[in-house]
Amino acid sequence: MIKIEISKTLQSKIRKGYPWVFRYQIQNMIPEERQEHLGVVYDHKNRFLAVGLWDPCSDLCFRVLNLGAPKEISSDFFREQLQSAVKIREDLKSQGTTGYRVINGENDRFPGLVLDRYEDTLVLKLYTASWFPFLDELCELFQKEFKSQQIVLRLSRNVDKFLNDKSKYRDGQVLYGNKNSGWVQFKENGLKFVADVIEGQKTGFYLDQKDNRLKIMKMAKGLSVLNVFSYSGGFSVYALVGGCDSVMEVDSNPFALETSLRNLKLNFPEKSFPSKNFIQKKGDAFQILAQLKSENYYFDLVILDPPAFARKKKHKTLALDAYASLAKAGAQLTSGVLYTASCSAHVSGKEFYDAVYLGVRSTGKKFEEIARTGHAHDHPAIFPEAFYLKSAYIKIS
Ligand code: SAH
Repeated sequence: MIKIEISKTLQSKIRKGYPWVFRYQIQNMIPEERQEHLGVVYDHKNRFLAVGLWDPCSDLCFRVLNLGAPKEISSDFFREQLQSAVKIREDLKSQGTTGYRVINGENDRFPGLVLDRYEDTLVLKLYTASWFPFLDELCELFQKEFKSQQIVLRLSRNVDKFLNDKSKYRDGQVLYGNKNSGWVQFKENGLKFVADVIEGQKTGFYLDQKDNRLKIMKMAKGLSVLNVFSYSGGFSVYALVGGCDSVMEVDSNPFALETSLRNLKLNFPEKSFPSKNFIQKKGDAFQILAQLKSENYYFDLVILDPPAFARKKKHKTLALDAYASLAKAGAQLTSGVLYTASCSAHVSGKEFYDAVYLGVRSTGKKFEEIARTGHAHDHPAIFPEAFYLKSAYIKIS
């Protein structure tokens, strides 16, 4: 194993559960030709501190697998970790949910690995190539646990970029089973959805917004709803099931809008869409919001769930400007509730809420915060960077 030396400060952070070491934090020389995929950290008294995945191709080059006591990284180890992850999601099936996150990376002690389940399909998403040597044993383990029909591999941009032509692996590859299309059907809180797990965004569906969608359903009765950045229509379906009066969706991606229509038809087979109380607008959200304002549109509930504006730290300032101007545009279009979210890991909760209130305040309207929320409980978070989803419900007068 690669031996990694780090500062005392970082040692104590890791001892408290922080799971990452970046390249610039390593204090010893590690020859480039070393190809191991496991690393170990000892403290300044040469006591074992942590064992983890070593990824020489990434700036985030060490991710903790096990802390405190030496442990063999074997199938038994992975099985134990998987059992704990499964346990905290046990109640989901009885709530009518068959599409959910089974493993949330570092937070379930599988650093850099996400496993989403869509009924009998599993989607394994890797954020580090260091998992490749373990892939066969992981597939066997997951397959045994879930009796799944297929396992699909998805790769983060960084891992995908790093692979060469000779690699055994590629994004969208079916690791197990024989699936020739990416479409899967599943349930969330008893509602039906389809997702394309090969071509779709994330692993196919924004599973992290489950609890917020339910909250929207509960407040939707009789309301006119504007769902901006609607993707595959999750919020729209919940709002309509909750008895809302109308929905207008906005998204720039035609595939997203088509998928949303499929999801509406699945849940309301007797109705046809689009209809007089369900319309879609394809295009840039910022432009469409401005246009709606100039045409004096008003909605009782405005949902703003944009993509991660800050994928890199250097984009943070631009992202905060975008959150502020969206919140302003959203607040101008309602005298009801504004729901606004950010999934940018590089933007902290405080920075996001400050930007949102800067935007809302600039409308001159009165407002009051109703609630702040994050991800659903199948997305546990154990360190600051893992709390990426932040959102607020704001009453606008
Ligand atoms: N609310 C969704 C998830 C939103 S993901 C859900 O619950 O499932 C972000 C969406 O924003 C994607 O569908 C993407 O196509 C869309 N998008 C990204 N940039 C956009 C822009 N400038 N204008 C409109 N839509 C945009």
